[in-house]
Amino acid sequence: MNGIAIKMLDYSMKRILILLIVIIPNIASAQMLDWHNVRTPTNNPSKVYGAYAAGCMDGGIKLPGSGAGYVLGAVKDNREYGQPEMINYISKLGEKVNSITGRTLIIGDIANARGGPAPINSSLHQSHQTGLDVDIWFRAAKESENARKIKQANMLDSTWTKINKQHWNETNVEILKTAASFDEVDRIFINSVIKKELCKDYQGEKWMQKIRPWWGHTSHFHVRLKCPEGNQDCKMQSPLPEGDGCGGELAWWFSDEPKSGKKEPRKYPQLPEECTRIFNWEALQGLAERH
Ligand SMILES: [Zn+2]
Repeated sequence: MNGIAIKMLDYSMKRILILLIVIIPNIASAQMLDWHNVRTPTNNPSKVYGAYAAGCMDGGIKLPGSGAGYVLGAVKDNREYGQPEMINYISKLGEKVNSITGRTLIIGDIANARGGPAPINSSLHQSHQTGLDVDIWFRAAKESENARKIKQANMLDSTWTKINKQHWNETNVEILKTAASFDEVDRIFINSVIKKELCKDYQGEKWMQKIRPWWGHTSHFHVRLKCPEGNQDCKMQSPLPEGDGCGGELAWWFSDEPKSGKKEPRKYPQLPEECTRIFNWEALQGLAERH
C-alpha cells in the first residue's frame, strides 16, 4: 500500500469514526424509550414485532378522522395509528354497525405512530403497542346527535356492581355482537359486570366466546385483532378457552380473589430488538445514506 492509499484509508476511517461518534449517542436502545413522542410512522411495509403489551410496529397508518359510521373521538397524544388490518377493520365495522343500528361509532385509543408502550405513569393501557388493539366507546351517536360532542358513558351504576339500565340497551349488544363477528377479531374486553349481564340472555351463543371479562372497560370496549398473516414476529395471546365464558371463569370475577390481588406497579416491557431499529428509523436511515 502506498502513502496516498494509506492517507486515503486514514481519511475515510476518520470520517466513519466521526460519523459514529456523532450518530451513535442518538441511537437509543429500545428499552425505556419515549414512544409517544415519536410523532410519525416509519414508511417501511407494515409489520408487527412482539406482543400486544410488549411490541412495536413498522408502517403504522393514521386512522382518518371520520369515515362511514365512525368518528375518531378525542384521542390523547397522537395515539391514532394502527396496522392496515386495524384501519380496515374500523371502517368495515363502522359501516356495518351504521347499517344495522343507524349509529356512529366513536373510536378511542389505538397506538402510537410506531406503537410501543404508553408513558408508564399514564392511565393509558399497557397493551395497545402493536396497532392491533382499539378502544371503542359503548355510547355510539344517534343520527340526531353530533358524535363529536358526545361524552363517554359508564355502563355500570354508581355502585359499580350493577349494569346501568339508563345507558345499557339492545343497541350496545348489537354493536358488540357485530364487532365480534369479523374473523380477524381475536377477542374483545369488557367489564365483568357487563359480561355477566350478557350471560343472562346470550349464554351459549358462539360470539360470546370472544367477549372476555376484564378490569375497567365500563365505558368502552377493547377490540384485539389476531396477528395479521405473514407477521412471523407478531406474538398472539394464548388461544381462547372453549365455551361462552359464562361459567366458572366468570364467577371468579365475583369472588374475593380479584379484589384481594395486589396491583403490581407498571414496568417498562422488554421489547424485541427490532423495535430499536423502528424507534431510531430516521437516524439509521441517515447513517445508511451517508455511507
Ligand atoms: Zn384498550
